[in-house]
Amino acid sequence: MATRKCFTFHRGAADRTADPSESLGFKGANLALLAGLDLPVPPGFTISTVAWRESAPAHGELPQALRAEILAMVEWLEGVTGRIFDGEAQPLLLAVRPSARAPMPGLADTLLDIGLNDRTVETLARELGDLDFAFRAYRRFIEGFASLVFSADPAEFEEIADAERSRLGWGGAHEPATPDEWRALIARYHAFIEEELGEALPQTPFEQLLKVVEGCFASWRSPVARAFRAAHAISENSGLAVTVHAMIFNERGEKSGTGHALSRDLSTGKARLTGSFRVGGREYASLIRHEEQVLDLAQAQDDDSFPADLPALADYVARIETHIADACEVDFMVGDGELFLLQSRPARRSVAEGVRVAVEMVRDGLIGEEDALLRVDPMSLDELLHPTIERGEAADVIGRGLPASPGAATGLVAFTGDDAIRLVGEGRPVILVRNETLPEDVHGMHVAEGVLTIRGGTTSHAAVVARGIGKPCVTGAGALRIDMAARTLTAGGITVHEGEAITIDGASGEVILGAARLRRPMLTGDFATLMEFADRARRLGVRTNAETPIEARAARAFGAEGIGLCRTEHMFFEGGRVGVMRDMILAGDAAGRRQALDRLLPMQRSDFVELFEIMAGLPVTIRLLDPPLHEFLPKGDAEIAETAAGLGIAEASLRARIEKLEEFNPMLGHRGCRLAISYPEIVEMQTRAILEAAIEAGGRKGKDVVPEIMVPLVGLRREFDFVKQRIDEIATAVAQEKGRSVSYHVGAMIELPRAIMRADTIAEVSDFFSFGTNDLTQTVYGISRDDAANFLSTYQREGIIERDPFQTLDVEGVGEFIVLGVDKARRTRPDITLGVCGEQGGDPASITFFEQAGLDYVSCSPFRVPIARLAAAQAAIRLERAVRAAAPSKTRGRGPISTGG
Ligand code: PEP
Ligand code: MG
Repeated sequence: MATRKCFTFHRGAADRTADPSESLGFKGANLALLAGLDLPVPPGFTISTVAWRESAPAHGELPQALRAEILAMVEWLEGVTGRIFDGEAQPLLLAVRPSARAPMPGLADTLLDIGLNDRTVETLARELGDLDFAFRAYRRFIEGFASLVFSADPAEFEEIADAERSRLGWGGAHEPATPDEWRALIARYHAFIEEELGEALPQTPFEQLLKVVEGCFASWRSPVARAFRAAHAISENSGLAVTVHAMIFNERGEKSGTGHALSRDLSTGKARLTGSFRVGGREYASLIRHEEQVLDLAQAQDDDSFPADLPALADYVARIETHIADACEVDFMVGDGELFLLQSRPARRSVAEGVRVAVEMVRDGLIGEEDALLRVDPMSLDELLHPTIERGEAADVIGRGLPASPGAATGLVAFTGDDAIRLVGEGRPVILVRNETLPEDVHGMHVAEGVLTIRGGTTSHAAVVARGIGKPCVTGAGALRIDMAARTLTAGGITVHEGEAITIDGASGEVILGAARLRRPMLTGDFATLMEFADRARRLGVRTNAETPIEARAARAFGAEGIGLCRTEHMFFEGGRVGVMRDMILAGDAAGRRQALDRLLPMQRSDFVELFEIMAGLPVTIRLLDPPLHEFLPKGDAEIAETAAGLGIAEASLRARIEKLEEFNPMLGHRGCRLAISYPEIVEMQTRAILEAAIEAGGRKGKDVVPEIMVPLVGLRREFDFVKQRIDEIATAVAQEKGRSVSYHVGAMIELPRAIMRADTIAEVSDFFSFGTNDLTQTVYGISRDDAANFLSTYQREGIIERDPFQTLDVEGVGEFIVLGVDKARRTRPDITLGVCGEQGGDPASITFFEQAGLDYVSCSPFRVPIARLAAAQAAIRLERAVRAAAPSKTRGRGPISTGG
């Protein structure tokens, strides 16, 4: 016997296929699921994707065997419903809904009322005592059929109707008012189809059905559907299924309507029927709306205005929720008081609602904490962490645009991507202001705090890119003007120069003069509860990259378990410090440098005291000075002249020094521990500041602070030995001066391939490692991280790389190095602490890898901390489950892993 291609469903029973959504389409699969749960669905059957596949080569006519099978299905439906196709008393009418495995644009729309013809329309009118209803349905059917099967233009039917209205007047109504007028209109439709389209509307219902199924099958090849499949890598051969079911007369009378119900109140997350129900219906063809009554289902529960069994509906959605173990939403219909479910799916929800529902479902005992954690996309939490403008202060609004990407941001105005990068390189936050953005501006958008454009809408390049990278954005601020020659932004009478501060609010579209005070949302309520779940599930520690008290406090509030990277150089750009720094750099000898460093010492110490106090005993990793000294020197003629005057030296000698420090490849030049070796007095000052601060903060809090001193860009064991020796000497000196011992750890930052290859020997003397995956990516790839944006976007577009390796760790390449480094380090020092502090430390996909690689912690920017906590929990849960599935009897082990590729 040939395999079956049609599968029936009706309340309480559904034919099963091995993979329903694959073979029955998502609509057919879902109806089969609901039927199997004994929920009221209209009876029907689904023609499987296998039938489509076998029919496709014929490009039209359905194979004979399939026709026979469909006929048998219709006979079955006649038996179940007690109605007859083309029947003389109660005609059977059908709805046809095509669907692929998942929603796909370009496929045929649902077609209703198949089975109506010149005879059955009259029969139906008599049966229901409602001629207008029957003819409305027939008119809609003819229009839909002609469009699907004969490719007719719907506007042609409108023209015919308009002409008829002009001819007969229809008693002033928008549709025929008498039976004869209806019949005349239908006759016009037939004439048009025959004369203009050279076809005829089949009067045999079964033939109508076959033609509609053929039309649905053919819609697979529509240009829109093809383009969609190409864009989403969906196989051309996956195909569609066609679901056919008995019509529900949901648009007739006060006891009929269409609704949408949810199993939960998304605003509270609590289990409660919510949704809406429309009564009164719409007019079929002309789409002129009658007065509609929309019922709030939650309210209808108190005043029984719902025309069907509302408690039953509540019970149905609750059963679906229990079955899928998730909040659900359903589309339903009521036909003359009888309730039918047509579709269900997990409830669509905002991020906040998703968090709420997940937590509430744990409280209800429907799912466990682990499943709740897996339900929330870590990156989506970013939406809950956007800053807002502190209201209450008078804001000087100078313009308004469209709210294109949420969050507020303040920064200095920069008019080009390059200027943005330069200012950010000097440690200053910027707002990139452009007439509109182009792909070449993306590198500037990445470094900017926010983006403002004069032109463009909420789907402009700027808006789309900004949302993608999570930056606040205001577009289309048309009242503002950019003058590129003068480098100004003007609004009415106000002129803002490049380098002056503005604030944008991506939620309201406001542009504000000056730096408004921003407020970060707090981590409270269900969000905090979800984070508690995450902390119970995760193994990886989550620290933060922070150097200012503001960052450190924010990170603590978000649950950071310490500082994994304090970049000390940022502290030297503040206030008058850069001047002292320059004194140090320009000093002719070590003694001169020491004098300047002596002035920096108290400043550094007080910075560290504050950080240690905020972190209250949690680990704090402080990195010794890393960037090339050239970065601290003035740039541009004016700044050089000003600096020379301030320092009381000749401009020429300042220029000579600047020139001497200039490097061809500063990133591969005199930086990191190389600086410490050339100028050990810098290490000495920083070590002293760190240890004295630890003693001071520890004394105040009555709890020992054990700082972690990190040596950057180590490549050779001897580099590390050299620097560590200086650190130990200073520690001994400080201990003697203070008359007490000081505890500290010294570790290496692993950012060079050579350090990986020598990780075993470096680990002999290093208390911890922190993988600096920014530099490690740069050096493994041989790609300058500052120049990468120029070509990596092309690489992504061309499919050469999938993701930017500076954002998501390149597991196959850089990851292999990390695995090797971890292995070598643990071989010589099994208890070594291993962390990561590059950008990838806050990226969920990378965190999955760091969990697998067995690192101890990740460190990321403060606002990534909640994201990292959740991502780390998910990574641990998934790894645990994978390990359990692979070796059910063994407990989890952590050997070297293969990264594939
Ligand atoms: C790194 O290289 O990964 C790192 C964190 O250091 P920086 O970005 O400061 O070079
Ligand atoms: Mg680095």
